[in-house]
Amino acid sequence: MLTEAERAAALAKARSSRADRARIKAEVKAGNLTVAQVIDMAIDDEAIAKMRVCELLESISGVGKVRAVATLDRLGISRTRRIMGLGHHQRSLLIKEFSIPGDKLHAGTLVVLSGPGGVGKSTVSKEVRAHDDFWVSVSATTRKPRHNESHGVDYIYMSDEEFDRAISNGFFLEWAAFAGARYGTPRQPVLDALARGKDVLLEIDIEGAKQVKTNWPDAILVFLEPPSWEELVSRLEGRATDSPERRAQRLALAQDEMAQSPFFDHILVNDQVEHVVASLIRLAHSQRS
Ligand code: ADP
Ligand code: 5GP
Repeated sequence: MLTEAERAAALAKARSSRADRARIKAEVKAGNLTVAQVIDMAIDDEAIAKMRVCELLESISGVGKVRAVATLDRLGISRTRRIMGLGHHQRSLLIKEFSIPGDKLHAGTLVVLSGPGGVGKSTVSKEVRAHDDFWVSVSATTRKPRHNESHGVDYIYMSDEEFDRAISNGFFLEWAAFAGARYGTPRQPVLDALARGKDVLLEIDIEGAKQVKTNWPDAILVFLEPPSWEELVSRLEGRATDSPERRAQRLALAQDEMAQSPFFDHILVNDQVEHVVASLIRLAHSQRS
């Protein structure tokens, strides 16, 4: 049994350790401390030694919870491991992985493009694909391919069972249900492209965009708007790939989607595709600098 004085001392120590860890994480976030330096400091600092590795990685600028966990999984390090529990090999893997200051860790920028159905998102992302600096993610979906689409190019087509399995295996960076089907962004190719210094474009629905912002605060969220409601209706109706029922369903949805624009960092009007593409490239570059 602890005496009153011992209990008070233990509480004070716990409080001071928490404050120490918060200070270290702030320094990491600001790019003043590297992962290697923090691991080094843990040798003779008990408070730092008790920090969870996941917490340390999350505090690096541009690395949210999703990327921290994905990195730990990839390196074979338990998500609950504390710095003091790292083996020699795991320590070297982490130091190698994060051997540059946090703010310069990934040169690439994550750009999310959303907007109402029919506004021109896939037309724009097809154009962006032609640019060397950009890598455009190919999503998985449970909806059936349209006549002009192919597997691996427009989407990775999955059965419901395959999609369920992918969710439970942590395959997706984000996923959402939309108009009776499910759509998800495969996580690993995005991480790989960012690590290669590419800007990455995700063309996803609004629910997915919100998930990305939560897990990846540095992502740039762009909302694509039509020049007018009439133009949106005409684009949706001009697209011969949907049945009349599906088009009616999509118009109703588009009305709700248009109301979500204030949630986004930038709004671009899709008057001309090449203007939108140029703006996306400019936005990604401005984030880098
Ligand atoms: P989304 O992916 O947002 O559902 P799409 O890219 O399929 O939309 O575009 C819907 C329709 O609008 C297509 O027929 C496409 O050719 C047309 N479209 C896209 N952008 C423009 C634009 N800037 N001006 C005129 N038509 C466009
Ligand atoms: P479509 O069926 O017209 O190709 O796409 C329907 C909607 O799903 C669009 O709003 C599109 O942006 C969205 N979408 C496509 N891929 C993904 C994805 O990986 N995740 C999410 N959340 N939405 C997606």
